[in-house]
Amino acid sequence: MTKRVVLIGHPVAHSLSGAMQQAAFDELGIDAAYELWDRPPIELADAIGELRGDDFLGANVTIPHKERVVPMVDRLTEEGHATGAVNTITREGKRLVGHNTDVAGFKVALDKLVGKQKMPRNAVVLGAGGGARAVVYGLITEGFQRIIVFNRHLHRAEGLVKHFGRTAAHMELRAMPWHESIIESELAKTKVLVNATSIGLTSEDSPVPAEVLQSDLLVLDLIYAKTKLLRDAAAAGAITSDGELMLLHQGAAAFTLWTGQPAPLELMQQKLAEARASGLRSAEGEPAGEPSGALAE
Ligand code: NDP
Repeated sequence: MTKRVVLIGHPVAHSLSGAMQQAAFDELGIDAAYELWDRPPIELADAIGELRGDDFLGANVTIPHKERVVPMVDRLTEEGHATGAVNTITREGKRLVGHNTDVAGFKVALDKLVGKQKMPRNAVVLGAGGGARAVVYGLITEGFQRIIVFNRHLHRAEGLVKHFGRTAAHMELRAMPWHESIIESELAKTKVLVNATSIGLTSEDSPVPAEVLQSDLLVLDLIYAKTKLLRDAAAAGAITSDGELMLLHQGAAAFTLWTGQPAPLELMQQKLAEARASGLRSAEGEPAGEPSGALAE
């Protein structure tokens, strides 16, 4: 029987994850199919319930469901529990386990961004959704001492800070209102800037004006594309990375959780690159929007 793995999001039209995961199953001779399930929030519980069937290896969960799915699984791993967000589900008999492989993916991306420099201690994070939760947890466990979270809706950033209360008790984790002047003043004090909003995913917008980006910043955009933010930051002299490595490594970790086998990383990277070259701009299998030649590498 062909096993099934599904990506649950809303919508999920142009999945990059599909390209890399299916190729990885085929390469290792695993009889499994990666399916895209577009499910609005109201249908999420039923979709999760279906995963308990014997034909499922598990699932990926993406925008906008990563936090909503937490109470729907039977057990959370340490990362799933710590972040309060789930991007990968595995099955133990009829029981579902919620993992967060975005954390591991983010750490690989952060290490690459920092390179040979000493790991910084201060960061500004834009966004407070499921992706931001993985970023903040990754930064805390890397030993960051001051993390400022900006979000359009302040209450969501405050909820994130509250969620990490105990984990972040030894350091400064703060939510601040999304005002250009406050972001500018915080950026002047920081080394690392992470964009975990979806601004730039389907538009040519940047979350911050180009003038606030200094040359000594390390800038990571979780979006898998040369976004306006990354182009502005590079023009200012900053070191930049996009979401490719995070996407690749969260996917590789998920693959291993479903199959028990090491992921064929090179092949998966190649498939991501091919999907991107064909015009997809999505960061993790969520809607890619209209293909834009301007952003393709
Ligand atoms: P969520 O839907 O959970 O969160 C979206 C975030 O973007 C929120 O902070 C939201 O703010 C903010 N946002 C959206 N639109 C706007 C806007 N117009 N102005 C200001 N803020 C806005 O999504 P995720 O956290 O799961 O994903 C966020 C981004 O990170 C996406 O682009 C996703 O592709 C990327 N990502 C990439 C990964 C990778 O592997 N490379 C992994 C995970 C995420 P508000 O709360 O105020 O609505």
